[in-house]
Amino acid sequence: MVQMETIVSLAKRRGFIFPSSEIYGGIGGFWDFGPLGVELKNNVKRAWWRAVVQLRDDVVGLDSAIVMNPQVWEASGHVAGFTDPMVDCKQCKRRFRADQIEGERCPECSGELTEARQFNLMFKTFVGPVEEAAAQTYLRPETAQGIFVNFAAVQQSMRLKLPFGIAQIGKAFRNEMTPGHFIFRSREFEQMEMEYFVRPGMDEDWHRHWLDVRMGWYRTLGLSQERIRLRQQEPGELAHYAKDTFDIEYLFPQGWAELEGIANRRDFDLRQHSQFSGKDLSYFDEETQQHILPYVIEPSAGADRATLAFLLDAYTEEVVRKEKRVVLKLHRDLAPIKAAILPLLRNRPELVDMARHLAVILRRRFMVMYDDTASIGRLYRRQDEIGTPFCITVDVDSLADQQVTIRDRDSMEQVRIPVAEVPDWLGGKLIPAPFQI
Ligand code: ATP
Repeated sequence: MVQMETIVSLAKRRGFIFPSSEIYGGIGGFWDFGPLGVELKNNVKRAWWRAVVQLRDDVVGLDSAIVMNPQVWEASGHVAGFTDPMVDCKQCKRRFRADQIEGERCPECSGELTEARQFNLMFKTFVGPVEEAAAQTYLRPETAQGIFVNFAAVQQSMRLKLPFGIAQIGKAFRNEMTPGHFIFRSREFEQMEMEYFVRPGMDEDWHRHWLDVRMGWYRTLGLSQERIRLRQQEPGELAHYAKDTFDIEYLFPQGWAELEGIANRRDFDLRQHSQFSGKDLSYFDEETQQHILPYVIEPSAGADRATLAFLLDAYTEEVVRKEKRVVLKLHRDLAPIKAAILPLLRNRPELVDMARHLAVILRRRFMVMYDDTASIGRLYRRQDEIGTPFCITVDVDSLADQQVTIRDRDSMEQVRIPVAEVPDWLGGKLIPAPFQI
């Protein structure tokens, strides 16, 4: 399996991901997505939205604010309980998560450790001009609560009937004590979360449904069967709100780790918010003529963590004609650039014109790149390394026969087709994945 350093280095060299504010020495746990990274992550989010919202008639979308009334976080349990137990080394002053060290002494210098103290992971901030306690709130540590507080507004405005879901993609912030493994654990990241509201009693069936759907999503987008698994949490691991939780885990270079959690949250959140806000968040069930608090199944995924898993899984080294070929075998839906248009000779203006013209036409429908800055062999290698599924070359014969050659990234096979047919040919190849619904 590929080492994390290899991906970190490729990501930086090829414009996917850079350390944040690097010219100032960086800042731990924050990352910037470069020109190709933003395309890749947007494609991951788009594929999620397509599978979870667009292709279903029972899920709607939402985009709620990052900063919310601080009472939200009292009700959700985050103010009291969103903490990690931390210990400090009295000698070297380093701080560690108590549950991540073995033994009684500092793992760095063997110094004496303090008692464990609870450390809240939420970033505090102030709203308005006065920095006082009354104006204090938090950057959201998850997107889910924005969904729960809008439950009634969404349900009523859209006249939704159970079962139905509300989905949201957005930033979340956690002051993680041990950020690391590249973008696996950062302090600012994006979540893709959906709360699926069901009648109590139907929750276990729907839980199974969403486990299947979400596993299918990762597989359809190309994650290797043997590097992805479903693990049921032990009773002792469960969050206070959860009746049952499964983690979708991926075999990252550091070992199996959570990619997505799929929890049965019962009616915990709606009950808490009803109580704290004084607003009735029950649902009137016309079938039984009763007010009920729905149960919730929550698939909660990380856009950055998923992006990392797709990058790691796609990385391939092959030997072609005795030379090493590095290819990112990204699914076509995820590839940042769908096709590269390359003139075979860059000093022939007619070739360059024809290639540039084709790029103009294709750009209207697809994310494409024109490149004539190196020899064709080198251009192919660059595109392989960033996962571009198709390279289209314009050669001297193209001028006469108006045909171009299209090279497939994975098989390296080439086909020659009339230039006028390229947009529809490409369109046929790039039809988005048919996800299970
Ligand atoms: P972990 O145990 O790894 O800290 P968690 O159980 O706290 O994760 P959840 O609260 O269930 O994570 O969040 C749902 C998803 O959000 C995770 O599966 C992960 O994909 C993503 N996520 C959570 N924390 C981070 C982080 N610090 N950096 C990047 N992604 C994260």
